[in-house]
Amino acid sequence: MYDVSALKELLKEPKEVMITTHHKPDADALGSSLGLAGYLKKKGHRVTVVTPSDYPSFLNWMSGNDDVIIYSEKNDALVQRIISESQVIFCLDFSNLSRINEMGEYIRAASGTKVLVDHHLHPEDFAQLQFSNTNAAATAEIVYDLIKDMGDGDLIDTFIGECLYAGIMTDTGSFRHPSTSPNVHLIIADLLNVGVKTSNIHRLIYDSSSELRLRFLGYALKEKLVVLQEYHTAYFAITAEELKAYDSKTGDTEGLVNYALSIEGIVFAALIIDRSQAVKMSFRSVGDFSANEFARDHFNGGGHKNAAGGMSLDSLEATVQKFESLLPQYKEQLQAVAQNS
Ligand code: 5GP
Ligand code: MN
Repeated sequence: MYDVSALKELLKEPKEVMITTHHKPDADALGSSLGLAGYLKKKGHRVTVVTPSDYPSFLNWMSGNDDVIIYSEKNDALVQRIISESQVIFCLDFSNLSRINEMGEYIRAASGTKVLVDHHLHPEDFAQLQFSNTNAAATAEIVYDLIKDMGDGDLIDTFIGECLYAGIMTDTGSFRHPSTSPNVHLIIADLLNVGVKTSNIHRLIYDSSSELRLRFLGYALKEKLVVLQEYHTAYFAITAEELKAYDSKTGDTEGLVNYALSIEGIVFAALIIDRSQAVKMSFRSVGDFSANEFARDHFNGGGHKNAAGGMSLDSLEATVQKFESLLPQYKEQLQAVAQNS
């Protein structure tokens, strides 16, 4: 349900607002949150952005970044207080409260009005207002449209625009994925008009690797890439020791899975990483092979049709074994997709 008048009514007077987004925020999660925060502040609301975990340092240039509260056990009481005192709680770029760890149950129990703004499949029904559009390329696209639909398009300035641009640019794979609609390009044209320096944002996000991050990429490509042509599948499995050896920081493995998908004939790719507490998985696919269903059915995850994630509490070896053992049942499907792409 896309009820802008209900949102207008909710926000007609200044309110205590909290915005949160998913675990390990990416550029869309953080950009849509800070873009929305910038707008709501201009409307006179008191806005606090709280993330359930830290995020990559290549996102820390966004306007409002310095005021973001990153949840940890140490500030649990503070975050609980913010949640319980917020009159409006925006949940951005995730569709299930389990994606925000401890904060999920705090928010479920909170009395403030919950507003979901998201583009993931299968939204959980926990919010009073839902702006969920699985066809949107990015949550930042929905935020942009919402601000326009609220009649406030003129409040989108360079700072808000930069945050929204980062979200749309990254979630469309720099305007490559099929989600890159005419609306996306029209929004970008408008963001250019308000002064967003798009090439700077590309550099800030994509050209800011440490030397070790790049060497890790080289190592992974040379030593860790497994290509299963029979199943049109390729994957990387990375151990906790390897992450340590390359001093891997949050965000350093982002984008790695796409290299596996870039091989000719490959239509399904995975990145399987031992994050110590759990094995985290990223899935990418092309065409009609649903990474989302694969993640949901086997690895307790979800996401979008062609980009999803999941996790496993088994060891890295056992997880890789399970992953490989699942492929035969998808063989025909993968073959068909490979033939059509
Ligand atoms: P990534 O592989 O880049 O971490 O995530 C790809 C997509 O899947 C993103 O839209 C992300 O929000 C979603 N995603 C990643 N991990 C999980 C997960 O464990 N559960 C669910 N439901 N979605 C996930
Ligand atoms: Mn997103």
